[in-house]
Amino acid sequence: MRELGQQITRDYRDRDAHLVMVGVLKGAFVFLADLVRWVELPVVVDFMAVASYGASTRTSGVVRILKDLDEEITGRDVLLVEDIVDTGLTLDYLLSVLGARRPRSLKVCCLLDKPARRLRPVPVHYRGFEIPDVFVVGYGLDCGERYRNLNYIAVLHQEDAGRD
Ligand code: 5GP
Repeated sequence: MRELGQQITRDYRDRDAHLVMVGVLKGAFVFLADLVRWVELPVVVDFMAVASYGASTRTSGVVRILKDLDEEITGRDVLLVEDIVDTGLTLDYLLSVLGARRPRSLKVCCLLDKPARRLRPVPVHYRGFEIPDVFVVGYGLDCGERYRNLNYIAVLHQEDAGRD
């Protein structure tokens, strides 16, 4: 968090307007909360909530926007904060939606990156960790809404998924 926050601080230091940090709910809520505390700049925090359309998401990446931004982002510096980039479909879609609003800049910060599963090339400017093709939970990440509160990131094995 410190390294990412310092990097972001350095990169946006000379901008005259507040950086808009956009967390993608729900998964990024813990990451964003920790990350913003290491960004030593005036920032505005906003959130988007998205949900998949079910099967079509797996092929198109089109997601339903459950909560849109409160902020106008036209002409502003925007940093999208994601929990994990997997196929890249969700991020690709979000970047096209936000990019259409003509921000001054639009960058991506993700905690975890699973490049082995990528179906669409997406720019990741700030990356916490690269991980292999495993399903992870904890630190905001869920499986059926469980495990978000774990104070660590764990690999969830198929046989654990249904257990209490
Ligand atoms: P993508 O569109 O890149 O395939 O998927 C992005 C979203 O899928 C992430 O924001 C996250 O919500 C979910 N996701 C992808 N991989 C994992 C994982 O290993 N664990 C959890 N809990 N969610 C994941």
